[in-house]
Amino acid sequence: MAQSVLTIDLGAICANWRALAAMNAGETGAVVKANAYGLGAGKVAKALADAGARTFFVALAEEGVTIRKALGPGPTICVFGGHMQGDAPLLRDANLVPMINSIDQMLRHVEALPGHPFGIQLDSGMNRLGMEPAEWTALREIALSQKPVLVMSHLACADEPNHGMNAFQLQTFHQMTDGIEAPRSLSATGGTILGADYHFDMTRPGIGLYGGLPFVDALPVVSLSIPVIQVRDVNPGESVGYGNSWVARVSSRIATISAGYADGIIRAMGPKAFVWAGETRCKIVGRISMDLIGVDVGPVKDMPDTVELLGRHQSIDTLADAAGTIGYEILTSLGSRYERRYIDG
Ligand SMILES: *Cc1c(COP(=O)(O)O)cnc(C)c1O
Repeated sequence: MAQSVLTIDLGAICANWRALAAMNAGETGAVVKANAYGLGAGKVAKALADAGARTFFVALAEEGVTIRKALGPGPTICVFGGHMQGDAPLLRDANLVPMINSIDQMLRHVEALPGHPFGIQLDSGMNRLGMEPAEWTALREIALSQKPVLVMSHLACADEPNHGMNAFQLQTFHQMTDGIEAPRSLSATGGTILGADYHFDMTRPGIGLYGGLPFVDALPVVSLSIPVIQVRDVNPGESVGYGNSWVARVSSRIATISAGYADGIIRAMGPKAFVWAGETRCKIVGRISMDLIGVDVGPVKDMPDTVELLGRHQSIDTLADAAGTIGYEILTSLGSRYERRYIDG
């Protein structure tokens, strides 16, 4: 079979959740937006609920519906995008909690779903989602009288512990929320690691659950094993792949492996990326094609049937570096053509 195998360790996801939960005194939620960072929203949410997570976060109401189907009634599911036009039936039927981002959303919410739970998202400086201080001042008393289930904001630079933006946003969030009764949340993975000042009543880790930086102690979650279709000898002066971009300087042994940019292996990483054949690191050569990649397997003694792109030897962040991106994009790009195997918690 030429199909690559993506293995997702649900036990490692749950262990990462427990490790992040142990760092903070309040509740630890779980961010499962974008199909749980590409790893399978239903399976991941179910495993985390079994591990003890009670509050889940998604970006869109539609994603919340998927999580509700997987979890059944009980857990709280919050929607970062808030209450958008047309969302009311989804929010009502799946019992989702929109994080209200503006006065317009607040009006829409109380009109369409009076009495339905909601949270508030505040902008503490990132200028992405949430009410700005002036808007909040105008709405605050009325919104708080309706008892929001959570009041949250989001940090722009939490992956850089020494960035001045962290203290600035912390201070702004305090100014906007000190003294309110509703539970508060400021931090994702990065803010959880910044320390207790940033924890408030609830943290919202995503990437740390899935084995990515800035949670350096995270257990790896994904491994990707790619079948070798062919191995050939290439003479000096011969080229490999589209555009003749790689030319052999010496006699070389080249393996053609069965995955490509259609599987989310970002084409631009080609010149800097490696795969592992057993314990041997092998350079990718030539351009990454849609379905195939060339690899220099000269140093390999016993050629295995498959090579590893992600796993024990290479993390999502190492691969991200080769592509000039972040682990988040590596995960959410993982293709739909892989056979997905789950290791239970
Ligand atoms: C994506 C997201 C998170 C999770 O962030 P990580 O860096 O993956 O931990 C938390 N809160 C909000 C508002 C988000 O958009």
